[in-house]
Amino acid sequence: IKIKITEIPIPVAFAAAFEGERIRKDAMFVEFGGSKTESWELVTQREASEIEDHKIVIIGDDIDTVQQVPGRMPLAVLVEVAGKSMHSDFEPVLERRIHYFMNYIEGIMHVGQRDATWIRISKDAYEKGFRLRHFGEVLYAKMLDEFGAVVDKCQVTIITDPDKVKEVKTQQVVPKYAARDERIASLTDESVDTFYTCILCQSFAPSHVCIVTPERLGLCGAVSWLDSKATFELDPTGPCQPINKGPVDDPVKGIWQEVNKTVERHSQGALSQITLYSLLEDPMTSCGCFECIAGIMPEANGIVIVNREFSGVSPVGMTFGELASMTGGGVQTPGFMGHGRQFISSKKFISAEGGPGRIVWMPKELKEFVADKLNATAKEMYGIDNFVDMICDETIASESEAVLEYLSEKGHPALTMDPLM
Ligand code: SF4
Ligand code: ZN
Repeated sequence: IKIKITEIPIPVAFAAAFEGERIRKDAMFVEFGGSKTESWELVTQREASEIEDHKIVIIGDDIDTVQQVPGRMPLAVLVEVAGKSMHSDFEPVLERRIHYFMNYIEGIMHVGQRDATWIRISKDAYEKGFRLRHFGEVLYAKMLDEFGAVVDKCQVTIITDPDKVKEVKTQQVVPKYAARDERIASLTDESVDTFYTCILCQSFAPSHVCIVTPERLGLCGAVSWLDSKATFELDPTGPCQPINKGPVDDPVKGIWQEVNKTVERHSQGALSQITLYSLLEDPMTSCGCFECIAGIMPEANGIVIVNREFSGVSPVGMTFGELASMTGGGVQTPGFMGHGRQFISSKKFISAEGGPGRIVWMPKELKEFVADKLNATAKEMYGIDNFVDMICDETIASESEAVLEYLSEKGHPALTMDPLM
């Protein structure tokens, strides 16, 4: 017998209406992550005998140990589930929902996914008695409530002990993310008949529709094509709906009539034309959760990519935050586009504009993250060895002129490609 949990034992309100709530610095009691401390989340499957239903474990200090307000702590949220119909393909689907479940809590803000989360607890919530175990209560209740078809048992562990947060991340979390990314790596957009929508973010950006394909994951980086497929299996009337893609109208720009029709329907008519592989012509919309933003750098005849973790100013004269404020909200902004990290090394990445060979600048950390795959793609597409070395980063130069100098020194391919504009 499945029990529906309606009342969650927490000292603050819980409702979808709190989803868009932002917590400003002066209203915040403590924050986790946001590139300032380690912060990750993981849903993983276990044998029924390995976990205890409704057990909530806290490892490390609770938030009442914060010495100076606003405080800052590392955080790990580990949700272990067991069930006869549970499948490892469902793990990332359940994991993505952590973002929504935490945001439903009054006085809590949750941004990001995987090991790039950013969570704030307000002073009000703290004063009403909100403590870490309440995250566990919410996640326990919602996982059973929404995924009762596959989850029979659920145990939640919240870790703030800095060493433990790191240790579990290295041992369990990073390999898990890598294995997920690996599974999707062999699939191409041509090899499947079906793409999927994801409209989970319409609560933030009402006309936003992500089209998820094997080579282009959702812009949050947390919804791969396999995840969207699993989401549909779990919840046939849910946020991920199949698109029988049919014949392609333009394989270079990535235009399908069926995709356009679907976007029009799911955006309530706000949008009727999108391309999957162009930055300049009808690019996909962006909600607000993008891992990266690509933007044109006209004088370099190329594009720069900035990831959320990078706090400096990019060669287009803007920080990630400034770029985000003009890119998000579910509208098309030709020349600027949010996307996932994994999309960068795809041959489909802005193939309408010549592909990833257009990338002239990226923060060093992102360069290192994509290096192996992007080098392989560039070798295949342009016959260039070590392409990533030709891409400038903040340790080399961030001023337009110096970037250009570096590019010509390296013989960057963007300089001789067709004019971007
Ligand atoms: Fe879904 Fe896109 Fe939102 Fe990710 S960013 S949850 S793929 S709508
Ligand atoms: Zn979003």
